[in-house]
Amino acid sequence: MAIKIDGKALAAKVKARVAAEVAVLPRRPGLAVVLVGEDPASKVYVNGKEKDCAECGIRSFGHKLPEETTRQELLDLVHQLNQDPEVDGILVQLPLPRHLDEKEIIRAIAPEKDVDCFHPVNVGLLSIGEPMFLPCTPAGVMEMLREYHIPVSGKRCVVLGRSNIVGKPMAMLLTQANGTVTICHSKTEELASYTCQADILVSAVGKTNFVTADMVKDGAVVMDVAMNRNESGKLCGDVDFAAVESKASYITPVPGGVGPMTRAMLMQNLLTAAKLHQNLK
Ligand code: NAP
Repeated sequence: MAIKIDGKALAAKVKARVAAEVAVLPRRPGLAVVLVGEDPASKVYVNGKEKDCAECGIRSFGHKLPEETTRQELLDLVHQLNQDPEVDGILVQLPLPRHLDEKEIIRAIAPEKDVDCFHPVNVGLLSIGEPMFLPCTPAGVMEMLREYHIPVSGKRCVVLGRSNIVGKPMAMLLTQANGTVTICHSKTEELASYTCQADILVSAVGKTNFVTADMVKDGAVVMDVAMNRNESGKLCGDVDFAAVESKASYITPVPGGVGPMTRAMLMQNLLTAAKLHQNLK
């Protein structure tokens, strides 16, 4: 039976570490959280981030804008936040309403305040192994592997999904940790032939019960990034947890796995940004 990786407990530990460092900074860090529109899930995420900030002693500046906010109004706000010395990180909650171009807005954020690590400059720095920030979700997965002393070096790692937010940066971090990484996606043929070889399998597809026990090698480490809703509206991952749990050596639950770690790593990035802006190492 697999050991369940406790993301909630580890996230609390990471946040406590951040809070201790924040407490001795000359200036309190600040996060600007921009929410455009009324998307209920986004509101929940934003509330969670504001709560995390409070726990870590970080100030949060909420900017809740109406659905009909224009491109120029949003760009003006981002430019203003870029200049604001009290703001160390800027987070624009995605998805944005359809009339706004997410790529353009992300590119408008100053890279040294891009705590989501979505700006092309930060993606580039990550890809050459000189990151300013680490992308929150993949960094959360790496932190879990470290905490549980799970070796990555030399291991076969398979990442399901190639999104800019999860799959690609996940593969990058695993490669930098000396894993041998394969990325699979919707056009991959004979998917199970890859997953069955994985020592570490990371799933970020977004489909309930997508990863079944016959796709997993005995003793594999299974990290489930997905946050899906099943037919009864319950939060679940990609992995058929009940069946895979008896085959894997380690497994992350959903909820209580990667999700809380993503939030904790955002706080870690805020600390990094604040130190950068206060010229501290
Ligand atoms: P996404 O942009 O929709 O990407 C999904 C990926 O899965 C794509 O690369 C897609 O391939 C691939 N895929 C789809 N069907 C497949 C199939 N049949 N076989 C193999 N690959 C397949 O989603 P995302 O933003 O990366 O998010 C993925 C999941 O993680 C979602 O459930 C999301 O809610 C969750 N998530 C969780 C957190 C967290 O904090 N835990 C953070 C971010 C996202 P193509 O590229 O070929 O289309």
